[in-house]
Amino acid sequence: MSRYARHLALTQIGDEGQARIGRSTALIIGLGGIGCATASYLTCAGVGQLLLCDFDTVDETNLGRQTLYGPSDIGQLKAVRAASRLAAMNPDVRLTEIPDRLSDDALAEAASMADVVLDGCDNFPTRFQVNDAAVRSSTVLISGAAIRLEGQLAVFGPDYSKTPCYRCLYQEADESLENCSGNGVLSPVPGVIGTLMAVEALKVFSGLPVETGKLSLYDATSTEWQKLAIRKKKKCKSCGRS
Ligand SMILES: [Zn+2]
Repeated sequence: MSRYARHLALTQIGDEGQARIGRSTALIIGLGGIGCATASYLTCAGVGQLLLCDFDTVDETNLGRQTLYGPSDIGQLKAVRAASRLAAMNPDVRLTEIPDRLSDDALAEAASMADVVLDGCDNFPTRFQVNDAAVRSSTVLISGAAIRLEGQLAVFGPDYSKTPCYRCLYQEADESLENCSGNGVLSPVPGVIGTLMAVEALKVFSGLPVETGKLSLYDATSTEWQKLAIRKKKKCKSCGRS
């Protein structure tokens, strides 16, 4: 167990917290720059199981920031190549590859198997689908995004009857908002966000308090953070009362 010695030495984690981490399951949606960082830290930290969901293959343009892949992975499935790298990092973690585009039902089922859902995908339709699956299964959703020199992070749930969800923050009309694929992004910015998502997940697993319903905005140009409250929408399509 000396791998986890620095966690065991933390009063906030200790033996009990580490044991809880080792019994926890995380569903990671998107194995790009954000997901690579999240998955790496959760693996090193000894999470029980990772469900690795990404239907995409590795492209040469990914290599500038997606730290789990190298040139020999180009053209191969990210879920498969990420699992291979992560298995070498820590053989104690159960790694489940999900290299598919999941239906709403399949996604809700995967979310219900997890203690947290970590969404670092690159498009709005998937973000809404992931949110709805987290709300349906009352699973904590940790959502992150990065573009140019900016990043954002928010934690939602698990009691969506009282707290906002991702749809309370963004509407489907916002779908035209930019994503990473057509834009530039500074290499470590998705890593900053993905790493913070791993921090929040480890807090959830080990029973530490986590602040939900707040949007944290990171501006790498000024090295500044801003935090905004997310208002719960009464008529939200996903978490509102019908
Ligand atoms: Zn909502």
